[in-house]
Formats: sequence, structure tokens, C-alpha cells
Amino acid sequence: MRIKPLLLILACSFPGAVTPVHAVESGLLKEIQSRAAAMEARTIAWRRDIHQHPELSNQEHRTAALVAEHLQKLGLDVRTGVGGTGVVGVLKGSKPGKVLALRADMDALPVRETVDLPFASRAKGRHMGKEVDVMHACGHDGHTAILMATAEVLAGMRDQLPGTVKFIFQPAEEGASEAPKHEGEHIGARAMVDAGVLENPKVDAVFGLHLMPGFHVGTVAYRPGAILASGDTFEMTVTGKQTHGGFPWNGVDPIVTASQIVLGMQTIVSRQLDLSKEPAVVSIGMIQGGNRENIIPEKVELRGTVRAFDNAMRADIQKRMRTTAQAIAQASGAKAELRFQDPGYAATINDERLTARMLPTLAQATQGRAVLASKLSASEDFSEYQSKVPGMFFFLGATDPKKDTASAAPNHSPSFAIDEAALTVGVRTMAALTLDYLNGD
Ligand SMILES: [Zn+2]
Ligand SMILES: [Zn+2]
Repeated sequence: MRIKPLLLILACSFPGAVTPVHAVESGLLKEIQSRAAAMEARTIAWRRDIHQHPELSNQEHRTAALVAEHLQKLGLDVRTGVGGTGVVGVLKGSKPGKVLALRADMDALPVRETVDLPFASRAKGRHMGKEVDVMHACGHDGHTAILMATAEVLAGMRDQLPGTVKFIFQPAEEGASEAPKHEGEHIGARAMVDAGVLENPKVDAVFGLHLMPGFHVGTVAYRPGAILASGDTFEMTVTGKQTHGGFPWNGVDPIVTASQIVLGMQTIVSRQLDLSKEPAVVSIGMIQGGNRENIIPEKVELRGTVRAFDNAMRADIQKRMRTTAQAIAQASGAKAELRFQDPGYAATINDERLTARMLPTLAQATQGRAVLASKLSASEDFSEYQSKVPGMFFFLGATDPKKDTASAAPNHSPSFAIDEAALTVGVRTMAALTLDYLNGD
């Protein structure tokens, strides 16, 4: 994931944030800060340990065991093996109240680390049947450590906690590392929702964060409404009739048909969608067909991705893609079969009221360094929780303030690195959000 153009404004100029609804009273915020600061060395140690032992999607056994042991020590009610290798811990406050879920993702990526760190990863894992190098190149090691520390901070403040906190440690956010066991198999957030993670007790709201090198440490970036795009992968087969390249009239040319389809697809966003509402992207990243200059092949295979910031537009694009592909193929006497990998990720859409309500807390927890993020056309399965309950997902600045964010290695890069000072900012922000949310109406 990468953030480039940033529209930054001061948090308090966000029009929805007229008055702080329930800002953390200063005494509580101080206590959160000192507890988070006292845990900094341990939070960093957890992050380094997880970083050095990264695990691919649904293989997060070591990480899950580390998390579960910690949550059990804190006296939480802990469930393991949720939706795969997921772990859920429930912390009951001293008084009754709402139920808030906090989510971290635990999986790493098939990337070979190039960062020169004493705890750099040398780990291997299995990805789609092959042995690969594995690295926490998206910062999920940090997310896991932040949530472990947040659980400890909040467990220590149980007496001041009205309501319940559910800590969700989720596997497989980055998608599958092996072929699905059956068609439409659910993994990651969707598998955890299927396993009832938002029930018993029923969750009222959910918060999540992501480390982002596009922002300096100390900053958090929020956005009401869509913050991350939907992500859908598609495959298409265009079938014609094979013939000699010198006599194209004796066959049906799938290469020319596929070329027309590629161009036709590019008119969906540019000519057919209301772009004043939300942007969208249709990209074809792979096109393969033929094996010789003078043979018109039977088939062409294409693969691509679709991104949208509005879930109705997402569905509309898919419908228009089918119509476009089929109509162009029909006109050429060919056939086009379009398949979307199921399930894709919906857009991550922050609940506007919840975001407005929590904004003063984001500002207070960061001494006024909450900034408005632009939309980012990466995607996240945090959207799966938001499709069930109001949620807020925000970015946590990860780059050393002395460095330029524009030259920081992006998420998923082999040189992705974070400034670990970000971890404590994440802990105190998550803890402050929790106390404020539960102390609110
Ligand atoms: Zn990622
Ligand atoms: Zn990520």
C-alpha cells in the first residue's frame, strides 16, 4: 500500500467535529500515556520478535500462540483458532456498557527482506505450494504488538472501564497463501465474522489502524467515509477459433477481440461512471495469448483489478464489465468469459458520525497531530467488520520525522521499515479511543 498525494489539514477544521463529544478527561489521558510509555520497551520487543518470525496467511501459529499467552496472563477471556489462526480476547470493564472491538492483523507477505536490521527476517514459508522468503512488509508485526500492549494498558485500567473490549487478532488480511479448499472459501476478516467474532457479546463499533510510511511518526490520519478502495481481482478468457495468421478470415481472432475489450473496459470509468461522486480504477495487468507470429491462437487470457470507493459503484462496474466484454466478443464472433475472484474486498468506509465523534480523541492523543488523509486505492478486509457494525480505520504515521515521507519505502516493499516510536503512539491512541468511546453515550 502506498500513500502519495496527501491533503493535510488540521483535525479540528474537519466540519463534522463541531465540539468534542466525549474527549478523554485529562486525568485518564495522562494515565494512558504513562502506562503506554512504561510499556514501550516491551512493545518494541514483541514487534521485533514477531518481525523476526513472520508467518504467511493462515500460518500464524507462533504469532497466535504469543498473543493468546499474553491475553491469558492479563486475565482476559481468550478464544483461539477463530476463523483459522485468529485469537480473540474479551476484557470486561468494572461497569456495564457498550462493546467495542479493536482489530489487528497478524500475517506477513512473501517478500525477501532487504532492510539491514539485527532482527531482520530470514524466515521461509509456503506460498501457493512453493517455498518463499517471508517478511512483515506491511507492518502487521507492529499492529499485533500495538494491540497486545493496548490490551495490557486497558486491563490495568479495568476499574475505569465501563463496558467491554474485544481484542481481535486476525489472520490472513493479505489474502490466501494457498489455493482455496472449496469455491468461495472465506479467510481473514470474513472467516472471523463467520465464526461469530462480532457476537456474544454483540459488538457496537470497531476500530483498526494501519502503519503508514506516508506519514511521520506522531501523526494519525483519519477520513470520514471512504478511506480505502474495494479490491476485486478478475480473470477473463476470450475464446476465438485458431487459424493461420495469413488467413484470418478462416478463424476468429481472440487477440484483436481482447484488444478491443481492453479499450472498451477503459471507457467504463472514463465515460460511464459519475466520477464527481467517487473515483474508480479498472486495470488489466496481464494479457497472454499465442505462441507464434503466424498462428492466430484459440484463446487469450487476461487478468486485472478493479478499485472503487463506493460499494454500489463497485457492483455497477462489474456489471458493465460483463456487458462490455460479452458485447464486444459477440460482435467479433468470439466468446468472453469474465470471472471475479470471490470474495473480493469491499471499500473501507468509515462511519461518518463515529469518525466525527472520535476525532477530538485522535487529536488529543496525538497532541493535535490528527490530519485528514486522502483516499488511498489500496484495500483492506477491515471493511468486512464495517459491513456489520460502524467502524473507523485510520493510518498511523511510521516514518522518522527527520526523513522525507516521499522517499520512505512503501508497504509491501522489501525495504519497508518503520520508526518504532510509532508503536507507542498507536497504543495510546487505541487506548484513548476505547475509553472515550465507552465513556460516551
Ligand atoms: Zn498489506
Ligand atoms: Zn496491511
